[in-house]
Amino acid sequence: MTHILHRSANAVMPVAVGGKGIELFDRNGKSYLDASGGAAVSCLGHGHPDVLAALHRQLDTLAYAHTGFFTTEIAERLADRLVEDAPPGLDHVYLVSGGSEAIEAALKMARQYFVEKGESQRRHIIARRQSYHGNTLGALAAGGNEWRRAQFRPLLIETHHIDPCYAYRQQEAGESDATYAARAAQALEDKILELGSDQVIAFVAETVVGATLGAVPPVADYFKRIRAICDRYGVLLILDEVMCGMGRTGTLHACEQDGIAPDLIAIAKGLGGGYQPVGAVLLSKQIYDAFSGGSGFFQHGHTYMGHPMAAAAGLAVQEVIRRDGLLANVVAMGGHLQRRLEERFANHHHVGDIRGRGLFRGVELVSDGDTKQPFAPELKLNALIKREAMARGLMVYPMGGTIDGVRGDHVLLAPPFIVNREQVDMIVERLGDAVDAAVASVS
Ligand code: PMP
Repeated sequence: MTHILHRSANAVMPVAVGGKGIELFDRNGKSYLDASGGAAVSCLGHGHPDVLAALHRQLDTLAYAHTGFFTTEIAERLADRLVEDAPPGLDHVYLVSGGSEAIEAALKMARQYFVEKGESQRRHIIARRQSYHGNTLGALAAGGNEWRRAQFRPLLIETHHIDPCYAYRQQEAGESDATYAARAAQALEDKILELGSDQVIAFVAETVVGATLGAVPPVADYFKRIRAICDRYGVLLILDEVMCGMGRTGTLHACEQDGIAPDLIAIAKGLGGGYQPVGAVLLSKQIYDAFSGGSGFFQHGHTYMGHPMAAAAGLAVQEVIRRDGLLANVVAMGGHLQRRLEERFANHHHVGDIRGRGLFRGVELVSDGDTKQPFAPELKLNALIKREAMARGLMVYPMGGTIDGVRGDHVLLAPPFIVNREQVDMIVERLGDAVDAAVASVS
């Protein structure tokens, strides 16, 4: 009997006892290809010798020092490194322990920024439907996933949601990308004007939508328009790159490919590659200056922020990615993965869409490929795919979501940046079999 409360109170899960490269091993000696990096975390795979060595060195040097008393060399080095590679204008770093903490801090920074500027009437956060930004109360409030929010709603701050940029389901037949981008972004301006243009703090969005929709990239120009609308009304743009950032899409920050920089960006998962819990907010000088010229500090803090072991993991992971030129592999293997998925699922009646950027790919399942009708939610197709995949020694991240009452099942693929062609081929082969078996069991 287990005494740990896992994600599901009565789940029976294999016991992981080891990992090497892109494989994990359970207690029975079975191996699993890690094609999702857990939840897009393990960007260097498992047991990377250089990261382990860096962690041992840091442990021998200093395991912990409270940031209320000290800064540390390792945290300073990580911050320098993140600023060196940051989107233009972001020159300060706030180190935390994960994605929800990063979003929570970014939301509070945005609010305090306006209080320091004498605009304390600004109190609204706008985000998008069917989004996920974390499970703490602030981050959960920002998210637009009703299934996750429902029972906690009385405790959540009021937020406002617009439609996501989700071409497969929301671009109309014959509508050009440019027209759709303008229409999807216009929803933000409409919402700002409805709430009062001097009442809004920030707009929060994932650059490429991960956990709720399955690697959905924005159409070209969407974020340029969003950036312009935020600037027009002095609204801060917070990008959530907890999942899609730190190289996952082929550039260090996904927003580089959209030609914009946010005011605040939240990163986590791939920052430390799972070797330690670590996340960060990168913020603009303008926001930093409002704190330093105002009350003098950002009114927030966690006991483990800037933890030396977490900083050591983050720095080591980022150094390996740069030294080994792994972003080039993300682009090359990402393209290969997309092509192999398209071949395997060509004319598949139950695969509606295959999309993504870099090594961040999503497959959307539908009961009817012509009408895009999703499978009935009670079939729990995504859970069946996970089970069939695990039985075949494959870890993928399946999910189900709802857009305006339409539920969809998706599979997210986010293999480590070290994956090679043969491994990609093996992932696609096992996934194809798992999808076919799961669909057959409900048809
Ligand atoms: N934002 C996004 C986009 C995420 O995918 C996640 C985690 N799935 C979070 C925030 C929350 O991160 P964490 O689980 O580390 O708190």
